[in-house]
Amino acid sequence: MSNRTQTRSNGRPQSRSDNAREANFQAGRALSELIRTTLGPKGMDKMITTDEGEILVTNNGSSILNRIDVRHPAASVIAELAHQQNERVSDGTTTVVVLAGELLSNAERLIETGVHPTKITRGYSLAASRAVETLEENTVTVDPENETHLRDVCTTVITGRWDEPSKNFLADRAIETLEAVRDGRSVNLEKVTRKSLPGGSYYDSRVVFGLAIDVAESSTTFVSPDEYLPNVFEPATVAIVDGQLTIESAKGQGTVSVTSPEQLAEFREHEQETYRTYADVIAGTGADVVFCQKSIDDPVRYLLARNGVLAVERTRRDELHELERTTGARAVANVTELSSDDTGVAKRIEREPVGSTELAIVTAEEPSDGTDGQTGADHVSLILRGGTEHVAEETKRIVDDCLLVLKLVIEEGSVLPGGGAIEMEIARELREYAPTLAGHEQLAVEAFGDALETIPRTIAESAGMDPIDAIAELRTRHGNGSSSVGIDATDSSIRDTTQAGVIEPLSIKKQAIAGAMEAATVLIRIDDVITASRKDDHHDASHDHDHDHGPGGFVESTGGLPWAVGHSQGHSH
Ligand code: ADP
Ligand code: MG
Repeated sequence: MSNRTQTRSNGRPQSRSDNAREANFQAGRALSELIRTTLGPKGMDKMITTDEGEILVTNNGSSILNRIDVRHPAASVIAELAHQQNERVSDGTTTVVVLAGELLSNAERLIETGVHPTKITRGYSLAASRAVETLEENTVTVDPENETHLRDVCTTVITGRWDEPSKNFLADRAIETLEAVRDGRSVNLEKVTRKSLPGGSYYDSRVVFGLAIDVAESSTTFVSPDEYLPNVFEPATVAIVDGQLTIESAKGQGTVSVTSPEQLAEFREHEQETYRTYADVIAGTGADVVFCQKSIDDPVRYLLARNGVLAVERTRRDELHELERTTGARAVANVTELSSDDTGVAKRIEREPVGSTELAIVTAEEPSDGTDGQTGADHVSLILRGGTEHVAEETKRIVDDCLLVLKLVIEEGSVLPGGGAIEMEIARELREYAPTLAGHEQLAVEAFGDALETIPRTIAESAGMDPIDAIAELRTRHGNGSSSVGIDATDSSIRDTTQAGVIEPLSIKKQAIAGAMEAATVLIRIDDVITASRKDDHHDASHDHDHDHGPGGFVESTGGLPWAVGHSQGHSH
């Protein structure tokens, strides 16, 4: 950067710290600019290509940020912010990044006019506190029994992804799941298992009440034991082996060397005998189905099938634990230790072909004492489908987002008007609040409000509306007391978004506002540290102890874009 001798608009000479700050701000803003246009239901898509030739088309802010290689330390502060947002409340990643970028932009403008950075961070912090109060004052009580509200919450969160009918379909699957694991206002998502299985359409996705366990993992089976086995066991006695049902395990060694025909015959006989023992022990416990954590040799499966016992191999360990909870069975490590005491009972086990695999749907017994929980009777499995693995995974992500947002809304018991309505209301509130503060902080509080208006402005813009007209009308109507008027992007209108069903959880907005404020503050402050800790800064060596705040290369590292896709655009200048 060679503009050190430039003069700022306020007559102050451009210093190194100005350069450092500019580089940081530029990095944060660039990232925010990159994803800004994806915001809202009519947001644009981004196409991401990677070194491996993978191509991803998405308008999901967090998917984009997850995949791009963020190089600039300041940009990575923003990317980390998005990550945190996603971790904590699973939504609002685009919003938080756009807000942070806008806060930086506005801070830069204020610094240009001579406002000291610490006044800005103080003003921002005051504004964020006031904003959170405004959020809380504007919540609308939501009735957890009202399915329309719940569906609205879902369709608002999965905005911009897929068409209307499929959104409604997936939202309904999420609601169905939620109802099964909801106890009044408390939602236990630990009772939900999700499986994404490619093949079929996402309309084949469904909710099953019970566990869904892959039965046909291995395709090495030569003998089909199917003809001996029923499709439904009702009730079903369950045994669990947390080990394997193979010869190796019995002999405790991997290979057997056979040197003569007699030995071979002897070995074969021993082998057969071992298999028979396995099958006898299992069948002897009265089990209908045995789940095994490792592999099962074909002869064992065959012998068991002849006894009417379904043998399921390679069941994941977490599923074995869930089976233990659901059926009351106890897993044994070695099959020879298995007894009828270790078995459990399921109300029903049904085999069901799904795509290229087969599932065993395990439904638990109703708890006899009428209590809930202990037996896992209320476990729910979501079987999520899609034409390709990618689509099936996306289906899973969408339903996950719905479930998380439903949990938030039901536990909080309230929602906020979306479509930029709440942002407009906070901006209005902040403009009223600002004059009560000292001069420079006042400006920062107003700047915070301006930053929030970017959200409705962007939503309006991508919905094909004139953003200036839209903001003007929104300001007028909020000024007249219509606190929940925002943009309804479905028909590009300005209206009460609560009534339009564009509603979202309080905690997502809270987190977005607090997070954006914190990240912007970090970047506004970092500047001071960088200036003082630069190795070549002989004018102020007394601050050398600040080196541990990170490498001093912030300024130099931003010749071009602060981020890059893969390595192909790594060093554009
Ligand atoms: P984020 O990653 O921040 O969640 P999204 O692209 O999901 O970004 O957009 C979320 C924004 O879109 C929220 O402000 C939400 O209120 C708004 N939104 C959702 N549905 C609509 C709609 N039908 N009309 C207008 N705005 C909507
Ligand atoms: Mg979203």
